[in-house]
Amino acid sequence: MTRPGHGDRDVWPAGYGVIAGELAVAGRPVSAWIAEAGGTPLFLYDRALIATRIAELRAVLPTRVKLHYAIKANPMPALVRFIAPLVDGLDVASSGELDVALTTGAPPADISFAGPGKRDTELAAALAAGVVVNLESEGEMARLAALATAAGRRARAAIRVNPDFELKGSGMRMGGGAKPFGVDAERVPAMLRAMVGLPLDFQGFHIFSGSQNLSADALIDTQDKTLALAAALAADAPCPPRLVNIGGGFGIPYAPADQPLDLARVGAALAARLDRLEPAIAGAEIVIELGRYLVGEAGVYLTRVIDRKLSHGEVFLVTDGGLHHQLAASGNFGQVIKRNYPVALASRFDQPAAETATVVGCLCTPLDRLGDKVPLPEGRPGDVVAVFQAGAYGLTASPTRFLGHPEPREYLA
Ligand SMILES: *Cc1c(COP(=O)(O)O)cnc(C)c1O
Repeated sequence: MTRPGHGDRDVWPAGYGVIAGELAVAGRPVSAWIAEAGGTPLFLYDRALIATRIAELRAVLPTRVKLHYAIKANPMPALVRFIAPLVDGLDVASSGELDVALTTGAPPADISFAGPGKRDTELAAALAAGVVVNLESEGEMARLAALATAAGRRARAAIRVNPDFELKGSGMRMGGGAKPFGVDAERVPAMLRAMVGLPLDFQGFHIFSGSQNLSADALIDTQDKTLALAAALAADAPCPPRLVNIGGGFGIPYAPADQPLDLARVGAALAARLDRLEPAIAGAEIVIELGRYLVGEAGVYLTRVIDRKLSHGEVFLVTDGGLHHQLAASGNFGQVIKRNYPVALASRFDQPAAETATVVGCLCTPLDRLGDKVPLPEGRPGDVVAVFQAGAYGLTASPTRFLGHPEPREYLA
């Protein structure tokens, strides 16, 4: 929707509305959701927005592309269970996430387990469940093989490759150069040859090179190189890969200057690229794994104003939330420059800005700022602040125990 009259940006994330002067989520004012959930602070996720986002992706991605959800972005069990039937698979990065994934009933072959430092207990759980283990090193391959031998069964294994290129302009780079993730591309052929004779069923490759990218050009370029790399590596594989996970990295706009990703262009380029797919991987499932892009814009963090104060002429709205719940909005989760997330006064969403206020949390640290000098209506104790783009890397990416305040609520609208 367009701006209702305040906040430091021209548009709000799509799908939110105004009812009786308040911010509305899923067709109801936030006060109704807060009452139903039991109070603030509250992470509120709109399942219809998630479904819409997935439908938009399906509409532009080539039909042969499989869409996976990376649970790390938001592991709330009810949300994962809602998403599971809408996607083609789930990607987990811990045995805790694996447990959540297995409750959805997703077929084990469509669940993959990546992440450095998988413990033997985690590998054993993956083996028992029959999910695909994305091997991050030769050592991990040896440990998985030993566990499979001991259990008298075979494990599904893919190799996570650390590519020799990077996804340019990513918020977080996870490929290219020395990295703790995956196996350097040049070491993969030897690893594939060593896999023959081990009780491992080779599944394919996982090549994830970055996250939070808004550039269609950068994503298109990386997808092209990723497919070429997978095709080259397939030459040494014990059998043709069943799947090639080409990563994801689709970003969402956080700062006013961020331009949303041109999804249609990415989809069209991928379709053209798949039309000339190398024979070595022509039979493989091509998987895209997305976390943030599926859920980030479907969530809003709601926190109540406890105090309003003035300091040296600056207005501060002190809330019952903060960085212990929503670290990323405070600029302390990987951001190089602190830029405001979209912040609004949810309880006066239809009102124009009347002042500039800084929204802070209740923690005793200067890092705890949810919005710096935001144009807002005059906020009073009892008002509710909304921080948008809170559906991914919110609650579970925040230091909830810092200062010992209660955990926030989470609710699926
Ligand atoms: C974190 C991660 C993702 C999800 O990244 P998003 O930016 O949330 O889409 C996907 N795959 C791997 C391997 C990851 O580590």
